[in-house]
Amino acid sequence: MGCYRLGVILAALACLWALPRDQRSIDPARVLAEAKSVLPSVVSVGDASEGFYPLLDSEGNPAGWATSTFPQAENVQGYSGLSELLVVFDTSRRVRGVRFLTSEDTDGHVRKIRDAADFWEQWTGKPESSLGDDPDPMIVSGATLTSEAMARGLAARFGAMGMDQWFPEPLKPADVAKWFPSADRIGDGGEAGSYMVFDGDESLGTVLRSSHMGVSARGFNGISDVIVVLSTGGEKVLGIALLGSRDNEPYVGDVGDEVKYADGFAGKSVDEVIAEDSEASPSLFTSGASLTNYAVVESVQEMLRRHRAERVPEAFPWKSSLAIVWIALGGFCGVSKWGRRLKARIAYAVVSVAAGIGLGWMVSQDQLLGWGANGFDVGLVLPLLVLTAVALVVPAFTGKNVYCNRICPHGAAQTLAGQLVKKRFALPPKIHSIMVRVPWLTLTVIWVLAFLASGIPLAYFEPFESWSSGFVAFVPASIFTIGLVAAFFLPQAYCHYGCPTGALLRFLTHAPGRWTARDSVAGVLVVAAVVYSSLK
Ligand code: SF4
Repeated sequence: MGCYRLGVILAALACLWALPRDQRSIDPARVLAEAKSVLPSVVSVGDASEGFYPLLDSEGNPAGWATSTFPQAENVQGYSGLSELLVVFDTSRRVRGVRFLTSEDTDGHVRKIRDAADFWEQWTGKPESSLGDDPDPMIVSGATLTSEAMARGLAARFGAMGMDQWFPEPLKPADVAKWFPSADRIGDGGEAGSYMVFDGDESLGTVLRSSHMGVSARGFNGISDVIVVLSTGGEKVLGIALLGSRDNEPYVGDVGDEVKYADGFAGKSVDEVIAEDSEASPSLFTSGASLTNYAVVESVQEMLRRHRAERVPEAFPWKSSLAIVWIALGGFCGVSKWGRRLKARIAYAVVSVAAGIGLGWMVSQDQLLGWGANGFDVGLVLPLLVLTAVALVVPAFTGKNVYCNRICPHGAAQTLAGQLVKKRFALPPKIHSIMVRVPWLTLTVIWVLAFLASGIPLAYFEPFESWSSGFVAFVPASIFTIGLVAAFFLPQAYCHYGCPTGALLRFLTHAPGRWTARDSVAGVLVVAAVVYSSLK
């Protein structure tokens, strides 16, 4: 029965996943409005090329560019949904502003991020070439998964993911014959986009390739694939070359010519090129200053910076480790005799409330359905994935609802509240019999809204986002407050009379080993979901 019930939930999520997504397209009027807020001289927006909208001034001259973080950021899931940002560049391809466009993520998290000026300012002034590699973006406390996903999505847009697909051809000895005529083999350089050039067993030098390093090397209107050739040991620059370009005519010739005459790079040390101020003294190109010149110099500098950078090992993920300890302890308390003792229950409830306040991670319908509809990024949400797996799988296979009985911070807070007031109340039987249906009704409404892609924030049906983002959104904050105040007098009031996630988890453990009317209803609903998703 446990397998059937878990299977029903997973099948319903799979149907949600199978629904076709709306074709996303950005409204040029919105681009213009947002771009104007950053660059007031912009009066119109030209046709997009590779997702870049030229921003034009009153004379029709370029005043900058704007681009959405989609489609590349469509693979970067936050807490429960995707987010799209707009990046506005000036004519020297430096970021002038990043603006929020849309988000399917938890509403309270999104509001918190929109109010965090520092978050949006972190990219201002950076060259486009450097946006694809930010190992340590600033994130917003209380909305960490959502803000980290936005920052990762922006990095993905500028090359951290997928740029190599635009230039899939492998590097060949002929590409570097100008510097290494005897080269007969190209080997791996140990880092993404870094290659070793060989003549037999002898190493001749190193080549860095922008598209495979995730460095956005852009000409006037499209991405270019630039290589930097270094001497053995990687200390001296021998030259640069253009392997390919997605720029459109006549600009592709512009890019090619600039790179062809870039003799200023030859013979310079890596440090000298990195230190060159491309705007103040564009001496690296014999053809002088130009838009392409700046873009290529910055791309080359970015490639050399990354080549130079000592990769610091990732910091110890203490938050994730604490979360895993908290979940494991909750699982143990939930299934062991020791965990049933009152003192152990109270002690663990305190731990859970602390974890809820500190981490803000909990299972909710918004999160579960968001994952169903959009998938999730395992690296980003690993502890939340473990928490969700424990909440769903343990009850299905043991009949014990360890998440509600022990781990859930909101349930734990109600347990502690109930300990503080000795006098307890109970609802009159008639009202009780009506109220216990509320969680099931709410659960049904939430899932129907998710299938209809209603756009109504599903986080509004539960109090959980208040744990991570605070009292930002009125409805979840109200449910949080009323539920918790009620718990002082009615034991676990919200759990019994309000919580749709609790209802879903109770579905897994009700009437162990016995088929019930709920199983029949769930089966019918899943068949309806299969039919609906196949008709869409
Ligand atoms: S019923 Fe809801 S609030 Fe209560 S413990 Fe379960 S998930 Fe948490």
